[in-house]
Amino acid sequence: MTILYRSFSLTVSTLSFILTCFFASCANEDPAIAHDSTYFNAIEDNDIALAAPKEGDWRYSHNEKRQDLKAYIKVNPVRPGADHSTIYLMPVGDFTSLQQTILKQVKKYVEIFFQMKTVLLPAVSDSAITAVASREHDGHIQLLAPYLLDSLLKDKCPRGGIALMAISAKDLYPKDSWNYVFGLASYTKRVGVSSIYRLQDGHLDTVNYKTCLTRLANISSHEIGHMFSLHHCVYASCVMNGSNGLSETDRSPLRLCSECQKKLFWNIAYNNKHRLKQLSDFCKNNSLQRDWLAFKADLDAVNQSN
Ligand SMILES: [Zn+2]
Ligand SMILES: [Zn+2]
Repeated sequence: MTILYRSFSLTVSTLSFILTCFFASCANEDPAIAHDSTYFNAIEDNDIALAAPKEGDWRYSHNEKRQDLKAYIKVNPVRPGADHSTIYLMPVGDFTSLQQTILKQVKKYVEIFFQMKTVLLPAVSDSAITAVASREHDGHIQLLAPYLLDSLLKDKCPRGGIALMAISAKDLYPKDSWNYVFGLASYTKRVGVSSIYRLQDGHLDTVNYKTCLTRLANISSHEIGHMFSLHHCVYASCVMNGSNGLSETDRSPLRLCSECQKKLFWNIAYNNKHRLKQLSDFCKNNSLQRDWLAFKADLDAVNQSN
């Protein structure tokens, strides 16, 4: 299944490819979650209810069903195993030194978020794709994302890989009638491509660095979360909330809500408190104030509950 994501066009309304949850919501008593119930009870109080969607927001035009833990388990998500336990990030194109710094930080963030070995591969050239599957748009070169997905990434997940996400320096477009796309992914094959181009408001500098880092951390964890079968979250404010564009992405937190954390924890079985401390430290060290405060609030709640 190929899915366009986080996409927006000025000429065509946003395509909607909705991951549909087929199962009714109900309470879970999964032993793994019950085992860490103190943690989940503590952070649940910090979940922030979703506001009613405004026109243009993802939920205004997408009526998605809630995927609770029981529904998540039923979709039989891919789980790490001895022969597939590494997430790979593949830069595509030429990146400035500041962009390379962002890529290294995002690699660290993904590793913390999923508590899974994450490898930032050496950047690969985009010249072959530029030669055969690109166009000029608004004075810059765009790469044809489906071609990149089917040619550059097809069967390229390295040995031991559970997910492969390419990050393009150049802008992307999905087809001629679209102005651009933020990314494209095949969730069943667990490969995807995103672009840093539109996350840096034209040009990355020290002023918009934190905004770009937050956006790429958000999009990377969201899209790789999809590869682990996390559906869009309609339960609370959450990094897995659907998004129609950058302004909506900017409003969504880096934090997974308690319900989505239960799903990821069920899958990967990491140390919840250790993960939370690392997320908090990452945001603090990178001066990501809003998200640091959210993780710190969870950490404080967990510490008080022990
Ligand atoms: Zn999504
Ligand atoms: Zn959620």
